[in-house]
Amino acid sequence: MQYDGHTPIDLEQERIEILNAFKGLLRATKDRSRDETKLIRKAFDIALEAHKDMRRKSGEPYIYHPISVARICAEEMGLEPTAIVCALLHDTVEDTHITLQDIEDIFGVTVRKIIDGLTKIPEVFDENTSIQAENFRKMILTISDDFRVVLVKLADRLHNMRTLSSMKPEKQLKIASETKFLYAPLAHRLGLYPIKSELEDLSMKYCEPEVYQQIEGKLKSTQDVRNRFIRRFVAPIRTELQHQGYDFDIKARTKSISSIWRKMQTKDVPFEEVFDVFALRIILNTPHEREKSDCWRVYSVVTDFYQPSPERLRDWVSTPRANGYESLHTTVMSPQGRWVEVQIRSKRMDDIAEHGLAAHYKYKESNSETNKFDRWIAEIRDLLDNPDSSALDFVNDFKLNLFNDEIYVFTPKGELRVLPTGSTILDFAYDIHTQIGNKCIGAKVNNRLVPLSYELQNGDQLEILTSNKQKPNDEWLRFVVSAKAKQRIKQALNEAHKLVAADGKEILERKFKQHNIRNTPENIRALEKHFHIDTTTNFYYKIAKGKIDLAQLRELNVVAGNIILERKIRSKKIKGSEEDLLNEGINTDTDTIIIGEDFKGFDYTLAKCCSPIPGDSIFGFITISSGIKIHRFNCPNAVHLLSKLAYRCLKARWQNNALVERVAAIRIIGIDQIGLVNRLTEIISKQNNINMKSISFETNDGVFEGRIKVLVFDTAQLEQLTRKFEQVEGVKSVTRWDAAVDSEELS
Ligand code: MN
Repeated sequence: MQYDGHTPIDLEQERIEILNAFKGLLRATKDRSRDETKLIRKAFDIALEAHKDMRRKSGEPYIYHPISVARICAEEMGLEPTAIVCALLHDTVEDTHITLQDIEDIFGVTVRKIIDGLTKIPEVFDENTSIQAENFRKMILTISDDFRVVLVKLADRLHNMRTLSSMKPEKQLKIASETKFLYAPLAHRLGLYPIKSELEDLSMKYCEPEVYQQIEGKLKSTQDVRNRFIRRFVAPIRTELQHQGYDFDIKARTKSISSIWRKMQTKDVPFEEVFDVFALRIILNTPHEREKSDCWRVYSVVTDFYQPSPERLRDWVSTPRANGYESLHTTVMSPQGRWVEVQIRSKRMDDIAEHGLAAHYKYKESNSETNKFDRWIAEIRDLLDNPDSSALDFVNDFKLNLFNDEIYVFTPKGELRVLPTGSTILDFAYDIHTQIGNKCIGAKVNNRLVPLSYELQNGDQLEILTSNKQKPNDEWLRFVVSAKAKQRIKQALNEAHKLVAADGKEILERKFKQHNIRNTPENIRALEKHFHIDTTTNFYYKIAKGKIDLAQLRELNVVAGNIILERKIRSKKIKGSEEDLLNEGINTDTDTIIIGEDFKGFDYTLAKCCSPIPGDSIFGFITISSGIKIHRFNCPNAVHLLSKLAYRCLKARWQNNALVERVAAIRIIGIDQIGLVNRLTEIISKQNNINMKSISFETNDGVFEGRIKVLVFDTAQLEQLTRKFEQVEGVKSVTRWDAAVDSEELS
């Protein structure tokens, strides 16, 4: 690609300027040995030669880009020579004849791996979301091998953002919004605050140019007033700190345009009312062991002069944030009635805040408790290890991880756990172990019993309560905010979904037999189409959940337009259903009892052990002294009666339209929550035609068991009620409740 501008290029002059830029890079790279300097020089020579015929959109030689990226790595991230070498070479394999093998031959396998990782991350993600997600995942996978991949990539993106004006407008917008969406949060998470702010500001400049320029203008026009104010505000503090003999530095930092804009939006105030347009930073040069106490002493000096706001005290010195940030923040009132944010930190803390990860490693030996990066990496790896997670889910969950701030809670033994803000006891349970999460029924927070949905507060101490009978359900996804918990619940639900689907499959097979329909893939596909269902697993699942009207099977091939079910040639007797199998044992010589309002002929009563209601499959049993008792086929006593005393059993069925109310008993198991009983009774009272006969509740260690007797007309009505109960928060299972074996019913 040759530059085709109108000004002739002085190539000799250009060469001198390039060399100067490289010298600037060398000056910015501190702590390099002679050998390392040689390697950097070699990387520069190779990149210069490889990119020699290329120019950037702005017209300048391409080599300026890798030099600038390397300089950002050295100066703004404090990275070491290997990263500088990689930054210089980062575009060679993708854009020139240089191969990964060449790189490995000259610079060794570490540099090869980093360049390989960098080459895999495309400049702009494809429109196709799944490709985008997949690439992002690859990027993270590579980071876990070597963090320098993502750091060099961030430097690359920062330089591209700084030079974005020479791009075409539509490309500007795409790159800018992607920067906001992916890279700024990543920089934040890595503790690279200045880079994060600059990325956000630059993307805002292109995505929302009007607002950006407006705020930029206002910042400029108020600069002088601000400086005067700061000088007067700082003066007494400076004098007192000098008097006490501190070695310190005070800086005034104007907030980034994007964070001012965020404040204006969240607080709904104009620019003039954003109180913390700037913050004061007091940086102490103090030995590590005195950091904490010195920060607090300086705090006391500041608050001797100015009144602090207690709600705005942030102590990240005692408890650093997960990304390693440490600082003591307070907001104080100036004599002019203006709030001023003051940040107090040691030089080491400032270094970490400014340079993030790299500085963090530099200090790592001297401070063993700052291993939170490792925890974060472990979390990401954990998610990646999960084979079930689709790539898109991963990005969504990951983003969630990036944007959340954290809260601090404790285990019963006093161990500190950091979780995203908004976490519930479920997030906590899953953070400890997947099985603890899956079996969690509630928790004791500060010795008080709370439901699963309880939102954790800073400083809570938790003891998780578990039960082997517990299972995750869909509702849980609404309670959790951490990516890990979401992931684990989805996985458990998927497994449960498959189990339910297996039941559905059996039900369908039985129905097919009953209606003489061939069990062929064609028939199943025809039904899926008819019921508008996407997958066979879903189809089975919905059948099991009773959400598909299988009664339609009888007429479907006649009624439906293009649905034709292939049926078997009718045989005389259709076997297969559960009921049919049981019926075989029944004395068929006698008449069938018809159970209904106008009963004639037989003297019968409904068995108390299973309380049948219209719609239930039933049979009659002749007792010695109390006439005929009607039982459900799924009565706990049925198997005994039908197998051992079959000669005393009779066929029975419900008379159609028999509108008589019957007692049905329901057992509800769940987690004790305030207002739960109220919600359950409310459901019953709102249902027309259902009367409650009795209700009783027992609670044991957070788990409640409720027994409700209601009057219903048939199973359809009962099922409707059951489904409503199942939807209540905290309810785990709703079943028909059968009384224990009652000898009266059996004799
Ligand atoms: Mn690049």
